[in-house]
Amino acid sequence: MADGYEILRENMVKRLRDHYGIRDLRVLEVMNRLPRHIFVPEAIKHQAYKDNALPIASNQTISQPYIVARMTELLELAPAARILEIGAGSGYQTAVLASIAGQIFAIERIPNLAADAQDRIQRLGFHNVKLRCADGTNGWDVYAPFDGILVAAGSPEIPQPLLRQLKPGGRLVIPIGPDHKTQNLIRVTRAPNGYQTEDFGPCSFVPLIGEHGWK
Ligand code: SAH
Repeated sequence: MADGYEILRENMVKRLRDHYGIRDLRVLEVMNRLPRHIFVPEAIKHQAYKDNALPIASNQTISQPYIVARMTELLELAPAARILEIGAGSGYQTAVLASIAGQIFAIERIPNLAADAQDRIQRLGFHNVKLRCADGTNGWDVYAPFDGILVAAGSPEIPQPLLRQLKPGGRLVIPIGPDHKTQNLIRVTRAPNGYQTEDFGPCSFVPLIGEHGWK
């Protein structure tokens, strides 16, 4: 349905592909379709497709489109994949994941953000998302193990419960860094005999606050 944002959305996706080198066609297709403007505060709706993170309620941010695309691509999602998302925030990343993977289990620690994200996900008609308000650093034991885990907030180290809740062959994508502002984007793959770690360079997220994150 036309919403007046088609051109801004298309430009955003062109930039993801041509400037940032996003190759996963499903990611590009989904981001060309999802109404990102309904995930940001009304007053800055017109900025929703810009190339940066934006403030949402409770001092948090909606991630830059490039970061959403990159993290999703790094999960290498299969259509039936079960994904744990930590730090649902606005719910935009949740909607991207739900459009590509099988089932999404999303956690957000701030109650009003969790409620708003839940609302948007419902309004968009997704039936494959379970969203709860909790400390995501403990993972979500009852629905584990997961094919992929995406953490959208920066942590001093990899939360151990998340490693345990990863299936063999599963991938965890998470920003890890020494302070509240700077991290590197890390992907951990669970191999048959241990964990393999790759570093995808610097990034900047709000802090992951919880038992296995920042106290
Ligand atoms: N992908 C989201 C990013 C939101 S910012 C978006 O684009 O909208 C990161 C979010 O992580 C914030 O909403 C913050 O409240 C949440 N967060 C921080 N620590 C958390 C924790 N331990 N468990 C769950 N959510 C957490």
